[in-house]
Amino acid sequence: MDATKREGEGAAQKNTAPTEVLATPVSQVREVTSQWVPLLDKLGIRTAADLLFFFPRDYEDLSDRRAIADLEEEKLQTVRGQVVEVDGQSGGFGKSRVGVVVRDDTDSIRAIWFNQPFMRRKFRVGQHVLMSAKPRFQSGRWEMAHPRVSWLDHPEEGAGVDLLPLYPLTEGLKQYQVRRIVTAALEDYAAALEEVFPESLLASLDLESLHAAVRSIHNPASRTELSVARRRFIYQELFILQLALAARRWQQKVGFRAPALPASAQIDARITRLFPFELTSGQREVIQQVADDIASETPMNRLLQGDVGSGKTVVAVYAILTAVSHGYQAALMAPTEILARQHINTLGTLLEKSRVRCRLLAGSVTAKERAEVLQEIKAGEVDVVIGTHAVVQQDVEFSKLGLVVIDEQHKFGVRQRAAIRQGHYSPHYLVMTATPIPRTVSMALFGDLDVSVLRDMPPGRCPVSTYLIEPDHQQKWWDFVREKLREGRQAFVVAPLVDESENFAARSVAESFEQLTNGELEAFRVGLVHGRLHPHEKEQAMLEFRSGKTQVLVSTTVIEVGVDVPNATIMVVDSPERFGLSQLHQLRGRVGRGANPGFCAVLVDEQLSDSARERLNAFASTSDGFELAELDFDLRGPGDLFGTRQHGLPPMRVADLRRDRQILEEARRESQALFAKDPGLSRPEHARLRRQMLKRYGQALELADVG
Ligand code: ADP
Ligand code: MG
Repeated sequence: MDATKREGEGAAQKNTAPTEVLATPVSQVREVTSQWVPLLDKLGIRTAADLLFFFPRDYEDLSDRRAIADLEEEKLQTVRGQVVEVDGQSGGFGKSRVGVVVRDDTDSIRAIWFNQPFMRRKFRVGQHVLMSAKPRFQSGRWEMAHPRVSWLDHPEEGAGVDLLPLYPLTEGLKQYQVRRIVTAALEDYAAALEEVFPESLLASLDLESLHAAVRSIHNPASRTELSVARRRFIYQELFILQLALAARRWQQKVGFRAPALPASAQIDARITRLFPFELTSGQREVIQQVADDIASETPMNRLLQGDVGSGKTVVAVYAILTAVSHGYQAALMAPTEILARQHINTLGTLLEKSRVRCRLLAGSVTAKERAEVLQEIKAGEVDVVIGTHAVVQQDVEFSKLGLVVIDEQHKFGVRQRAAIRQGHYSPHYLVMTATPIPRTVSMALFGDLDVSVLRDMPPGRCPVSTYLIEPDHQQKWWDFVREKLREGRQAFVVAPLVDESENFAARSVAESFEQLTNGELEAFRVGLVHGRLHPHEKEQAMLEFRSGKTQVLVSTTVIEVGVDVPNATIMVVDSPERFGLSQLHQLRGRVGRGANPGFCAVLVDEQLSDSARERLNAFASTSDGFELAELDFDLRGPGDLFGTRQHGLPPMRVADLRRDRQILEEARRESQALFAKDPGLSRPEHARLRRQMLKRYGQALELADVG
């Protein structure tokens, strides 16, 4: 029956377009039985092409394969043989032992598992297996304790192969079954795959062809062959991502027009006069970049990164007032109402003596007031609208919007910006973040934006002193906290939000609150805030802390972003190993913002792993957020802060930004060069690249058909 099916496929392939052949439902692929279809579906495999691109998660290294008689002690080796005996013993006290004897032509070997009684069920006499471990010669016989086992489809499977693919599995599907299906797909469908890169590019980039690569990624003959194949797929993924970002950037520039808002010497003087301090040279530099951008009709799309307290607001205010001085409106959006109110206060103070009209749009504004403000905005009677992201994006109609500033956008909804555009008109955009983004990540994921970095700090800020507090020093630390509280200062205590169901050693914020209010901080006024509270309750707790009604605020990381309470000088982080370095740094940035020096303590316990301790030591030893972001990236990868969902792009399939940095740099350079030669990728030899790009990123990046 299989043979017939195969012939049928072959015939179909002759006169069917390659894309249709590749779209063959997996149920029609040779070797696939109907009960596997739903299981494959769970793995995301629906078509023949899905099978071809279902890459192994790892490979069994069989390079040191031995006949049992040739084994050596204390070296990782692999034997192949047939199961001849399976036995199990339970030795009481929950102890058990499973033994499996495997024989080849030369000798036999006994594999042993302790306290894994289920292993017994995995073996049947007569099966062919591969087993890898460091063997020992025990009382006249070879033994392997807890070897890795591959169950084979037939005695010859994997013969002559050094690397046996290991696929992701799902319950009910076995490794050898997936191998068999993938092999069938390779034989019947791989020929229909079409090369994505033009021939000349393959040669100049030294990339393997798609056909060769897809075969060797499933069945590599050697480590070298595998890495050549992997490089090709990683390169392709990053190259196409970079093309998509280049396309988006290009589309923004040629597709939209913004008002030209040049800053004259007079405007500059009027604005800088408002600030009660000299601008730092970093601020000057960034302001220049922003001013150059908005002076042109090409819409600005700039990301400004600057550590907490580096003075990003000044840059925002400068851009806003430039827009206003040209008769345009500006919007300043913040993630929370507290931050929006903070901004309107700052602006109010700066603009006390000017005619610039600012209005607040936030959740707590009454419906009547809101209607009024909306009317004024529409009529052009408001110059600067300040509000929360959500509120400003909803239904605000501007009369003449020239600039949008998005503050503390570290959860990058950067790509929601379109909401405010109309037709081919777009305001200028400035997005600000206090979460330094590692260079690699910003290049990979935000490559469509221009990036400015504010590196220096305004003068006179003393860095926050940071301490790792060991359990036997906690007593002393709380003494110190109480002393500061009595002096009139305030403190944050941050703990993770842990579900009761979660089985973590970490203490939750609720537990911390209970313990502190009944113990160390019994005599003080303590508030509690966490993400599960109603927004209104949260707001209330924050306001009480700001006003000094509560002296200590126990919270989750909801306070991480931008909150400014100058009288708070102490930050205590419980279970700090649960936070990323950048996150800890953000938390530390909440204190030491006023006249008094700040103190940050992370409470550690003995069980802390060496790597966690190393991270925390690094945190204590530097106050440079950029350095910490890079370190965090080196240690934990991009997953933590820039989880794939936050920037709105589909997840990477084969590339790993940390491991593949070098390929990323090259792919970025090359894709930009290609895009510069053929903007819009309209040449026929680029049609497949373009199709791939649109298929994968068209929606996420709002790429119009760029042809
Ligand atoms: P962030 O970048 O975290 O948003 P802010 O803009 O809120 O930082 O600035 C932090 C503090 O530094 C504010 O109190 C601000 O007034 C002050 N500041 C900003 N620029 C300067 C400067 N050039 N000289 C002195 N103080 C400054
Ligand atoms: Mg700020």
